[in-house]
Amino acid sequence: MSTARPTGAPAPGQLTFVAPRRAKPARHLADLTMAERRAVVAELGEKPFRADQLSRHYFERLNGDPELMTDLPAASRERFTAALFPRLLTSVREQTTDGGTTRKTLWRLFDGALVESVLMRYSDRTTMCVSSQAGCGMNCPFCATGQAGLTRNMSTAEIVEQVVAGARALAANEVPGGPGRVGNVVFMGMGEPLANYKAVVGAVRRLVEPAPHGLGISARGVTVSTVGLVPAIGRLAGEGLPVTLAVSLHAPDDELRDTLVPINTRWKVAEVLDAAWGYAAATRRRVSIEYALIKDVNDQEWRADLLGRLIKNKLVHVNLIPLNPTPGSKWTASRPEDERAFVRRLEFHGVPVTVRDTRGREIDGACGQLAAAE
Ligand code: SAH
Repeated sequence: MSTARPTGAPAPGQLTFVAPRRAKPARHLADLTMAERRAVVAELGEKPFRADQLSRHYFERLNGDPELMTDLPAASRERFTAALFPRLLTSVREQTTDGGTTRKTLWRLFDGALVESVLMRYSDRTTMCVSSQAGCGMNCPFCATGQAGLTRNMSTAEIVEQVVAGARALAANEVPGGPGRVGNVVFMGMGEPLANYKAVVGAVRRLVEPAPHGLGISARGVTVSTVGLVPAIGRLAGEGLPVTLAVSLHAPDDELRDTLVPINTRWKVAEVLDAAWGYAAATRRRVSIEYALIKDVNDQEWRADLLGRLIKNKLVHVNLIPLNPTPGSKWTASRPEDERAFVRRLEFHGVPVTVRDTRGREIDGACGQLAAAE
């Protein structure tokens, strides 16, 4: 027997069962705007200026532990720890290569989910490659992260904390080359950043806002890489955040791209490129086209030619990535001569092109393989 009852209104005396909801990571200072931080601090019965003080500790001194903030009253420290500084990331494993200047960290999140970030120090700059989701739902067959599916979105602070951890290691002179700073952040770790739009845009704001609001990294140094979620690209163009957009194209024709980047069945090459040109027009930023060269799959000269014709005379740059083969995959990187021919073909069309260095290859840098192996 069933009786009609408005949903959500239990009968008097009836036990109610709340559907189990996946717990979310706890709120952290880095999730919040300065105004929101002040509100939380006020709720705790503390003076509003404490929000600025905490922010300076976190974003300028990279100190995330109120117990070490000796200019705070001892009684307040515990309150701030509980309300604004939960432990979000725990390092599970570190791998280094290139004499210690490439460093990959596997992180465990509060609920056991695993993500990774990579610090890459070059002679003139340091780049942090960060994850935006635990796993990924985009299912690209050549990508290790894609194979395991999506576990969950990361919070703004979980994303920011990866950068802060890198910044801390650099400031503490733990990375060969002397004390340094993070100048570049690329959303090329695990996940599809534009499928976790709100948290990612929040994280970008925290990265680029000047201290003590945020880390004060130049927006020009931030790159958001996407499979091509067209509506989200349009939205990002309107955020007033001139970050670099990277589009993972990997094929210039829909027939092949449908298989390499399955979301292409939803938004076609032409629509993705249109969105990219719209982004370039709105931000005046050169769009980067990512193209993983896969031997005998997408590396034919005619495809380079087609790509060149599609993107010539645009505010664009092509980044060719030698495929980093995932375990068990039948695919491998292109032959050197095919790679060279591909480059030449694009250059023929006047398209600026570079081949990404294979830094971190020995530690499966930035392709989800460490987390996948765990
Ligand atoms: N979801 C975002 C960010 C992911 S990874 C995106 O797709 O853009 C960043 C880049 O690494 C993407 O261009 C992705 O296609 C590429 N990539 C993933 N697996 C790779 C592999 N095994 N070898 C080379 N590039 C790979």
